Amino acid sequence: MSEYILEARNLKKVYNYRTENAFEALHDINFQAKEKEFIAIMGPSGSGKSTFINNISTIDIYTAGHVYINGVEIKTMTASETGRFRYENLGFIFQDFNLLDTHTMFENIAMPLSLAKVSRKETREKVEKLAEKMGITHLLVKYPNQCSGGQRQRAAICRALVNNPRIIVADEPTGNLDSRNSSELMSILRDLNENSGVTIIMVTHDPLIASYSSRLIFIRDGRIEEEVKREGMTQDAYFQKIVVTVQ
Ligand code: ADP
Repeated sequence: MSEYILEARNLKKVYNYRTENAFEALHDINFQAKEKEFIAIMGPSGSGKSTFINNISTIDIYTAGHVYINGVEIKTMTASETGRFRYENLGFIFQDFNLLDTHTMFENIAMPLSLAKVSRKETREKVEKLAEKMGITHLLVKYPNQCSGGQRQRAAICRALVNNPRIIVADEPTGNLDSRNSSELMSILRDLNENSGVTIIMVTHDPLIASYSSRLIFIRDGRIEEEVKREGMTQDAYFQKIVVTVQ
């Protein structure tokens, strides 16, 4: 078994591959995440952060190189194997939460379970338990557009956690949140990381949000340009170092 929960080797992504519009967004990236790490990814707009996170988490398929999650190369899986694998390993939180307005909050949270054909009884138990923890039990019958941003965010977190993932992938999760909801989300992620051992890989443009991580990766022009580890630093000292690094 690999010592890494996630590993990318010579990862390359070319959009519009083999056309005259071919564009290489990631150039031979090498990256490793150990279990229980909390990794923040920063970089200028258009530098390849979303491309990177999508290609290491089965959302998109890289052009060359290898990505291993729990030792499994994700490119070798069929579509249905990938679905199952996501259910067993990964939870996703997106900037706009990606809740479906045509489904109730309950149905949205249960989505990863319905794709994996978990029984209705087990689904109900899991969704209700998480909703209670997040204080949104009374909203389960409502639709996302009947709920506030903070409430939708809680539902998105429940959906990311409902399959008990070992890795959470978050793309600008605080991008649409005010500072109170942002710091609440970061407290939840920190708790999951420290107390439940969940590995977190999170894109952010905000050094303060990045300072919750244990390691920062800075991407520029499709390459990892810098890396900063928190190690023994206070969160404030780490924040200051991140600010200097990303300037
Ligand atoms: P970031 O998340 O850092 O803002 P992205 O990963 O979204 O950057 O984009 C990296 C580069 O790849 C940009 O130059 C962007 O224009 C290009 N790109 C992203 N998605 C596509 C796509 N679907 N087709 C072609 N080019 C793309």
